[in-house]
Amino acid sequence: MTKSVVIVGGGPVGMSLALALHKQGVAAEIHDLRPRGAAAGDQRILALSHGSMQILSALGVWSQIKATPITNIHVSQRGAAGRTRISAQEEQVEALGYVASSSSIAMALDHALKEAGICFHGESRLLDATPDDAAITLKLSSGDLQTRLVAYAEGKIGEAAEVVERDYDQHALICRLTPARPHQGTAWERFTSHGPFALLPFENDYAAVYVCKPTDAERLKAMPDAELLAHLQQEFGPRVQFSAVQGRFIYPLGLRYRAQPTAQRQVWLGNAAQTLHPVAGQGFNLALRDCMALAHGLSDAADPGAPELLARYAANRKLDRSGTIAITDSLIRVFSNDDFLLKHARGAALIALDMLPPLRSFLARRMMFGARAW
Ligand SMILES: Cc1cc2nc3c(=O)[nH]c(=O)nc-3n(C[C@H](O)[C@H](O)[C@H](O)COP(=O)(O)OP(=O)(O)OC[C@H]3O[C@@H](n4cnc5c(N)ncnc54)[C@H](O)[C@@H]3O)c2cc1C
Repeated sequence: MTKSVVIVGGGPVGMSLALALHKQGVAAEIHDLRPRGAAAGDQRILALSHGSMQILSALGVWSQIKATPITNIHVSQRGAAGRTRISAQEEQVEALGYVASSSSIAMALDHALKEAGICFHGESRLLDATPDDAAITLKLSSGDLQTRLVAYAEGKIGEAAEVVERDYDQHALICRLTPARPHQGTAWERFTSHGPFALLPFENDYAAVYVCKPTDAERLKAMPDAELLAHLQQEFGPRVQFSAVQGRFIYPLGLRYRAQPTAQRQVWLGNAAQTLHPVAGQGFNLALRDCMALAHGLSDAADPGAPELLARYAANRKLDRSGTIAITDSLIRVFSNDDFLLKHARGAALIALDMLPPLRSFLARRMMFGARAW
């Protein structure tokens, strides 16, 4: 029998899509190469926008996610003038965003899948896919099947023909920093010449993302705790004092995206469609908006893989997708260098942003809701 929708990849994006489709009455099943429940072991800490909180609430999982609210965001650059602050109070929202572990999000989604009776096939790796006009045949390690539409949420972009790529020659060092004083919900984004240094309030600590050259990241990863703490303190400056550091992971960073997120009977979502630099914390947020839009577009569809439906989805998502990619990419290119003129120009831009509430509000709403804010 030909299935309706098969999702390849049961990470946070694949599971969110399955739930979103279920809410629209579209049957879907998930196949993941890892055993079911493996996503609960993922170590990333994610900043979720206000809009993502609303989506996860609509999917019925928000109450299960342990999230720390962000009430202020402070943006500055190291070694030059200019800073700006965005506050939840000014934007008249309860929180500008939230910080949650990928693991807690995955557990909440998996629980909801079980409640909804959605099939999750663990240890089922996709080996090959062959589309034709009527369906697409998938060769999986668990057996072959046919479906009208395959949604790839595999967390990476394979060797596709049309991929746009930029290597920033940067790695992110992720760790947990304990502040000497309570963080009071303030997130910090500090741009340095070798990349951004972000602090996200997470439980009583900060989840830190420190971007630097790959060789420096390896060196920092191997440092004793006291030395690493002193290095990060010096890099961040005196505005926040750290008392302890825990855990450390390294991720290579780059921008990689498919020129087209759809093809015959196929759609790519999340990191399988675009792998973004985590500077603006937009990867999962964008993916959630994509999942909701796709699910809405497929409700009541006799054939969920029909070319006109996929074309409509791609057209509807173009502005948000390309805007999010462009904003993330320009933040890195404008802020991660030591050019004298640029350093002063961006200082002036931050001061201007600080003095122009409507512009600041526009940026805040773009980050909170995606292109809906335009
Ligand atoms: C350092 C860092 C910080 C980040 N911070 C943020 C942030 O603050 N906010 C934000 O919104 N985003 C952030 N992101 C991005 C976010 O982590 C990703 O967008 C999100 O986790 C991607 O989820 P996913 O489900 O697409 O992929 P994954 O979580 O990687 O899941 C993919 C799944 O597919 C399975 N799979 C792979 N290949 C196959 C196959 N052939 N067959 C079957 N199954 C397969 C895997 O086993 C896995 O379970 C960050 C990313 C990084 C690297």
